[in-house]
Amino acid sequence: STFAELGIVEPLQRALHAENYLNPTPIQQQAIPLLLKGRDLLGIAQTGTGKTAAFALPLLQRLSESDQRAPARGTRALILAPTRELAIQIGEGIETYGTHLKLRHSVIFGGVGQNPQVRALSKGLDILVATPGRLLDLLSQKHLRLDAVEILILDEADRMLDMGFIRDVRKIVAAVPKKRHSLLFSATMPNDVAHLAADLLNDPQRVEI
Ligand code: AMP
Repeated sequence: STFAELGIVEPLQRALHAENYLNPTPIQQQAIPLLLKGRDLLGIAQTGTGKTAAFALPLLQRLSESDQRAPARGTRALILAPTRELAIQIGEGIETYGTHLKLRHSVIFGGVGQNPQVRALSKGLDILVATPGRLLDLLSQKHLRLDAVEILILDEADRMLDMGFIRDVRKIVAAVPKKRHSLLFSATMPNDVAHLAADLLNDPQRVEI
């Protein structure tokens, strides 16, 4: 199938064409139609399968289709990643795929000064990519709000738990509205990840690659 057949809109197709993405990967074929319908998703997939575009394309499409003339409401999509490297990589994907859309995104992570990140947040944004520790720090200092989040994505959930982020992740989830679209990706599905998924997701579709 093609991205057009999966329901991806033209400005995103153009960005994919520029990147020489000819056809969707298997996880993209399975996940994109479900996500465009607004279904919660449990994705069991490794890095390298194209999972970033599998969630980023429907995310960008859904945010761009809703009313962008509405007054700034704060961050509408939150993506949590275990490491700075992964957060940056996701941010680059959003930048690439969203090049023809007018959505603003920002990436925040620990290990660097927070001031540039605080300045970026203060300008307002639609999509935030973050590692859990720095996000909680900035949240507790009231540099951002999560009460307008419509879409929550946890990427590499198993690594996030391995790195000891479970309490941070649960605190962040508690700060996000209950009524939302939720996605969780993990390469493996140990019990603690399954429990987190059960708590986080509402009637999820499971996609395994
Ligand atoms: P990911 O699994 O999200 O880390 O993606 C792995 C790599 O595959 C990245 O370098 C993407 O740019 C690339 N990629 C993702 N989807 C496609 C596609 N449909 N066609 C070609 N390359 C892709």
